[in-house]
Amino acid sequence: MTDFLAKAPTLDANWRAVVLFGRNVASYKFALAKTLLGFSNRADDRVPLEELALPFARHLCEHLTLVDKQTTSRSSKFLDACRAFNRGELPQDELVGTTARLGFTNVIDAFHVVGSGPVPICFFEDERKGSRGAGAIRLTDHFRRLAASMQGGSLADEVEARWRLVEMAWQLELPRAGIAVQADAAQDLLFVEQDRRVRRTSLTRVRGALNGYQRGCCFYCRADTPLAATDVDHFFPWTLKERGAMPDADCVWNLVLACQHCNRGEGGKSAGVPSPRLIARLHERNNWLVDSHHPLRETILLQTGADADARASFLRARQRIALDALVHEWEPAGVSAGG
Ligand SMILES: [Zn+2]
Repeated sequence: MTDFLAKAPTLDANWRAVVLFGRNVASYKFALAKTLLGFSNRADDRVPLEELALPFARHLCEHLTLVDKQTTSRSSKFLDACRAFNRGELPQDELVGTTARLGFTNVIDAFHVVGSGPVPICFFEDERKGSRGAGAIRLTDHFRRLAASMQGGSLADEVEARWRLVEMAWQLELPRAGIAVQADAAQDLLFVEQDRRVRRTSLTRVRGALNGYQRGCCFYCRADTPLAATDVDHFFPWTLKERGAMPDADCVWNLVLACQHCNRGEGGKSAGVPSPRLIARLHERNNWLVDSHHPLRETILLQTGADADARASFLRARQRIALDALVHEWEPAGVSAGG
């Protein structure tokens, strides 16, 4: 189990634990998360399942057109209904009826569960029992505060990125295939190469995939930064790759999101080598990627080592290489120390 939530059990960390660290057997949790975020401005806290059903099913229908594998189990009557809708063989009202009946069986119970139990903060309450009809859920004040927060705007992108990674891992059987996810920082893109690098398959944006693991803050100065305003940054500077000193400098383990001030402002990192405190923070972030299940977990394991000690000495070796080549250590200006 990850210490991501224990480290700082904030409202957004509870949500991010659900989205980023759940062990998924189907993508329903992502569809429900996206559906909930779509209700951010809803006046009534009570959402009948019939109303939940349409956006929930539409998110799944959309993803089925991208990747047909949306569950690790063999068959699902609910997903078959979504496929029939996509083929134009099922009218929307029947899709809604089937979704209200079958689509929420497990996901409402399982949504808040991460590891062995639910996260401490819940974003909706289950009001299905004892109600006539299919019942409802009730959005909580926690959900309202999360949606209205600075972080609220980035969460839908994070859910989408996580969903893309998980469904592509299932489709391409990435964990078994032993293929690492690669990154193109300039294009803000994660991808995999198969068939001896002939075929390149895009997965998702780097920023959406990494933002949650640093809690929507600049990796260096910890300023709250909307996802759209972040830069994808090479922690150990990209020039090390250019000089041939660190050929793997553009791998996922070395990419973080930074505010523009830290990345390219006056006193920004430029070709500086991040301080030991920041290297420890990168180690922690990479451990969280390992805790997150497919496919970034396997990527970090392949690229930096199978256990935490190996990964720590991997980063120490990279630090030596970086200091030999670039000499100057860097810290963001005017930031209090800590974590
Ligand atoms: Zn910053």
